[in-house]
Amino acid sequence: MKRIDLRSDTVTRPTAAMRAAMASAEVGDDVFGDDPTVNALQEKMADMVGMEAGLFLPSGTQSNLCALMAHCARGDEYIVGQNAHTYKYEGGGAAVLGSIQPQPIENALDGTIPLEKIRAAVKPDDSHFAITRLIALENTIGGMVIPESYMAEVSALAKAHSLGMHLDGARLFNAAVKTQRSAKKICGYFDSVSVCLSKGLGAPAGSVLCGRKPLIKRAQRHRKMLGGGMRQAGILAAAGIYALDHHVDRLQEDHENAMRLAGGLAGINTLTVHMPQTNILFVDVRSADVAALQAYLERNGIITIVGPRTRLVTHLDVDTADVQRVVDVFAAFYAGRVS
Ligand SMILES: *Cc1c(COP(=O)(O)O)cnc(C)c1O
Repeated sequence: MKRIDLRSDTVTRPTAAMRAAMASAEVGDDVFGDDPTVNALQEKMADMVGMEAGLFLPSGTQSNLCALMAHCARGDEYIVGQNAHTYKYEGGGAAVLGSIQPQPIENALDGTIPLEKIRAAVKPDDSHFAITRLIALENTIGGMVIPESYMAEVSALAKAHSLGMHLDGARLFNAAVKTQRSAKKICGYFDSVSVCLSKGLGAPAGSVLCGRKPLIKRAQRHRKMLGGGMRQAGILAAAGIYALDHHVDRLQEDHENAMRLAGGLAGINTLTVHMPQTNILFVDVRSADVAALQAYLERNGIITIVGPRTRLVTHLDVDTADVQRVVDVFAAFYAGRVS
């Protein structure tokens, strides 16, 4: 029985072709700037997002942190959504390691941060306050695409207050594919963007941070300080290049599979299915069913983290037949359950 892992799109394993690209990668010592494959990946990503320079980092967490530290000095502040990865899921790194004060604001249901709340959070030039320096957005966030008109409005607000704009674009290409916009167009509203290669793009590790040259130079210092300077990292960068060449357009399949899964599960009347925009689907499960459903799925080779709000993520290693099996297993569970 094939294991179907729906916990995250991080669980994807490198394909045979990706491994072949890694095995034959030309490498050098990247701390000396000598790794041609890392350099090629950085240039390729910078070009794809329309920015001057790129920096390869081991993780998205480190990439976001290096970006925040490159934008903000000690005692500066960044405005961020309460549900943003940079704020909620990165161990408080900006505060702990960067001495940067987060100013979190509750996200609206669509993942945006209400404009008037951002405006109200920008501090005046007064010694009581931290210096507001940056606005950080995330796209996609919780699988939701942030509207372009909204990004334009936030960008105008940032300009009016001389604030920087950072995009946590861990799933930037999901947003691009979904909206049929180029990554370049989306990133045009930002001074920096961090893109994950290890999510739906299917590489084993790595993120690329892009921005203007001086910002990337500062970020590179932070990367070294944080222990992210890798040596023959071209082995990993080769996987990233392969992913950008072969795994971007196919994200559409993940989005279709998430819709297919949603459609199938919506037929089970004890479940509340929230229609997905991209590859992340949320399903509400009755609390009384959580433990039993978790165990039942596990016995049937389906790996999920079941909760009252269960997240199901489609990716490279989940095909249409797998989706059908997941629907069938859910249906079998509920068929044997008194409602
Ligand atoms: C996964 C993720 C990150 C962090 O990436 P890691 O490589 O896991 O550190 C950052 N932001 C978002 C939105 C993510 O989904």
